[in-house]
Amino acid sequence: MSVSIGTPFSSKSTKVLLCGSGELGKEVVVELQRYGVEVIAVDAYANAPAMQVADRARVLSMLDGEALRKVILEEQPDWVVPEVEAIATEALVELEESGAVAVIPNARATRLTMNREGIRRLAAEELGLKTSPFRFASDRDEFDEAVREIGMPCVVKPIMSSSGKGQSTIRAPEEVKQAWEYAQLGGRAGQGKVIVEGFVDFDYEITQLTVRHSQGTSFCEPIGHLQVDGDYRESWQPHPMSGRALAEARTYAKSITDALGGRGVFGVELFVKGDEVLFSEVSPRPHDTGMVTMISQDLSQFALHARAILDLPVPAIRQFGPSASSVVLVRGESNSPSFGNLGVALNRPDTQLRLFGKPEVSGQRRMGVALARGGSLEEARHRANQVVADLEVSL
Ligand code: AMP
Repeated sequence: MSVSIGTPFSSKSTKVLLCGSGELGKEVVVELQRYGVEVIAVDAYANAPAMQVADRARVLSMLDGEALRKVILEEQPDWVVPEVEAIATEALVELEESGAVAVIPNARATRLTMNREGIRRLAAEELGLKTSPFRFASDRDEFDEAVREIGMPCVVKPIMSSSGKGQSTIRAPEEVKQAWEYAQLGGRAGQGKVIVEGFVDFDYEITQLTVRHSQGTSFCEPIGHLQVDGDYRESWQPHPMSGRALAEARTYAKSITDALGGRGVFGVELFVKGDEVLFSEVSPRPHDTGMVTMISQDLSQFALHARAILDLPVPAIRQFGPSASSVVLVRGESNSPSFGNLGVALNRPDTQLRLFGKPEVSGQRRMGVALARGGSLEEARHRANQVVADLEVSL
């Protein structure tokens, strides 16, 4: 293997165009820049977190295929690295087919995972992975039928959404109408199709971070997490699992990531009950629950993603023991939030804080993450939560 990286801003620069500039992208940019990669960060609004550390920023709607194509052709990156799902993936497919650009992990995987239907059908119908029972519905009649077939309780999600937006659980017949209306509001592309899934009474859920790189596939230790309203609040690593469940989780992760192909980090979300594993979904990029790896591993998921993108080796991943992350969730309205009491919040060993620098809060927004190690998972979680509790937020 012979990889070389050029000098930024020269004719030999190695360039990455990042589609989406949130907190995960920000860390990917930092890791790429450690190797002297020139990074252009794209998002729909100015001063997004990754833009604050990238070499250049371009503001455009990434759902606008023409605008996305134009910026890629102008910038001529070596790789396009999607950081979010809401992208005009057809434009990426065309550009990759024409040889104009390479997409991480590849354009097809980006297109398939943008839509819950594509990935669910691949996993359940083509690969034969166990999942919750599911139906799709495009209108209210189909929805009522799907809820009847799946039964209650069931979970409703727009097929084009992430982080719990538009997601709800139906436990009684009178909740059906509200669940439909909520899903219609929460879908990315406005009104649209939903998935109705049987509610899985799992013992726990994990993210199996999986890295496809030039030498093969590597796995991180399983990450346990706590979700509220479909959105992640805390994660920890390594989540204890039986040998059988862990082996099954890795078989599932290998199967779905091999089917998607390409290079990079994938976050494979799995539900576990006893030794049984169910596939839930997969991100073809670092995962929000994987932020814990910034303190728990020698190479975080972001460092691993950078290595995989650049075709660099990924030797054994070292895990440092019980570790946790806890999100800093801010509620209210502000375009200049500030964070105080840091002298207290950060005055404990084995803790760290990332503030994302998001320029605005309206409603509820994830603005940072606290990280901690401990002698046990309980201690690590307690320490991370304590950092968050000590922060004083001013709007
Ligand atoms: P998702 O956006 O599909 O990752 O869903 C967000 C979270 O909602 C998951 O991490 C689970 O905690 C919960 N969830 C999603 N689908 C189901 C299901 N079928 N049964 C039980 N909980 C679910």
